[in-house]
Amino acid sequence: MSSSSTDNIIERLGPKIVIASGNTHKIEEFQSLLKAPNRFVSQRDLGVREVPETGQTFLENALIKARNAAKETGLPALADDSGLVVAALLGAPGIYSARYAGPNASDQENCQHLLGAMTGKTDRAAFFHATIVFLLHADDPDPVIAQARWHGEILARGQGEKGFGYDPLLYLAKQQKSAAQLTSSQKNRLSHRGKALRLLLTNLSKRFPA
Ligand code: IMP
Repeated sequence: MSSSSTDNIIERLGPKIVIASGNTHKIEEFQSLLKAPNRFVSQRDLGVREVPETGQTFLENALIKARNAAKETGLPALADDSGLVVAALLGAPGIYSARYAGPNASDQENCQHLLGAMTGKTDRAAFFHATIVFLLHADDPDPVIAQARWHGEILARGQGEKGFGYDPLLYLAKQQKSAAQLTSSQKNRLSHRGKALRLLLTNLSKRFPA
């Protein structure tokens, strides 16, 4: 799919699209990845409060968030649900990544909690997962969905200052760096969210052809 056919897909979806997230790091990543930043508005800027994520999967939670934002604003909605999946922890923290060390836990607290859980584990394999969904309206029965992963290994201690969340703990063998040691454009090229968003644009272009 050429980039020009995905470029104007955003214009075909309407004058404004709400991003169903209050996470400023994610919003920044979305804004830099989507080539029509003025079309996107964060739900926080429209006074939409975060909805409880009561699903059991990334997909269910992304749909809950998108549906809520579309319902509250009357706009098409884009939502991402993402997290870190660690093999030796049977997939934890998974959908609970944001609150692994407890409700309102900081990134640093979550990272410390993960390091504690990984004590003595020799299998360090893990991946970030992102599910992104687009709903044309709150009752849209046919969401456009894209999912992607970013594989690495959990370090014994954090490295790097950039990024957010568990970035300092995911080591990328090819880059010989942690995710927190990448520039934002390097991260966008490689990350679960970057890959899922590019796939979403392709899927949207197929669903809503010019
Ligand atoms: P969500 O807002 O419910 O999707 O929670 C996502 C959580 O997963 C974040 O708060 C982070 O802890 C983690 N996470 C998701 N994407 C990333 C990433 O790109 N880097 C680091 N941590 C991430």
